Amino acid sequence: MLFPSSKLPQEYGGLGVKQLREFNVALLGKWCWRMLVDRERLWFRVLAARYGVERGRLRDGGRRGSSWWRVIARIRDGGGELGGGWFGEFISKKVGDGSDTFFWTDPWVDESTLSAWVWRRQLRVWEEEMLGECQTLLSTFTLQAQYPDRWHWQLNTDRGYSVRSAYQLLTSQDSITLDDAAGLIWHKQVPLKVSVFAWRLLRDRLPTKTNLFTRGIISSEAHHCVSGCGAVESAHHLFLSCSTFGSLWPHVSYWISSSLVDSQAVSDHFVQFTYSAGGSRARRSFMQLIWLACLWVMWTERNHRLFRGSPNSLHRMLDKIKIFSYRWLKATSCTLTLNYHSWWSSPLLCLSLV
Ligand SMILES: [Zn+2]
Repeated sequence: MLFPSSKLPQEYGGLGVKQLREFNVALLGKWCWRMLVDRERLWFRVLAARYGVERGRLRDGGRRGSSWWRVIARIRDGGGELGGGWFGEFISKKVGDGSDTFFWTDPWVDESTLSAWVWRRQLRVWEEEMLGECQTLLSTFTLQAQYPDRWHWQLNTDRGYSVRSAYQLLTSQDSITLDDAAGLIWHKQVPLKVSVFAWRLLRDRLPTKTNLFTRGIISSEAHHCVSGCGAVESAHHLFLSCSTFGSLWPHVSYWISSSLVDSQAVSDHFVQFTYSAGGSRARRSFMQLIWLACLWVMWTERNHRLFRGSPNSLHRMLDKIKIFSYRWLKATSCTLTLNYHSWWSSPLLCLSLV
């Protein structure tokens, strides 16, 4: 439903619209906003009757949805080809009396949702630390009974969503590096816990030793990298520059026949790695999945060394990357005729991406 350029609505003539696709996405984003703030209207009740409401959100309707509705639901939920999670990234809930806010799923604390923090068993040490983080955030929070709960569009907290601000967001390349990386976190074949981990990593919210030290949880004697390399453990060190963990990258590159990426920041590394294979969306999707698998293996290995004390070798870590990526792809692609043995030696050939 792109507008031909001659038929742009007049009110947007002054915007200097050049990129119609982004403009169209920004216009559709207005519907996502109305779904939050304009829920008394007839159109909302019609959609609620047709698709149903779950935790205060309209359901996406799956295949039953109209194409219009499916596109809007994808923008709301952060579909990759529509600019990633930009809409969700820039809304937050300003809680007043708390009566209209969902505790776990609305982004009301620190502009993020709490839904990642659900547990069914006893918490481990590093999880206790996350819980402490949560409690700190909650302890500084008070309800304000005289105000109703309100949604904020963070690019204009007074007036709410505007097509202009969304269009500028979608077309401004400078502000998009983190957003680019943030849009890559969510991958339909990667487990949610891995995406949540990457989400925390890109915001430097993982309980790395540097972060624990900064918050006074551990002392400066205890903030060294678990590999024994002698350096201080920050996210950048652990995932990129560590002489032990960082040397996993050449092995991964060799396995997937890609060139090495040299980046100063983790988010840049993610974007460059994903795009380094060039070509089609399928290739990018593959690279994205491998990057997430790689980081996940590094982080679980770091925790394994920290809490169990016994290290796995680099080759064992590489094996885990191969196993996880194989499982993730296999679990969601019933048509994929993957052969484990050929995946081991040449994944690109397996996916017909060479
Ligand atoms: Zn190290």
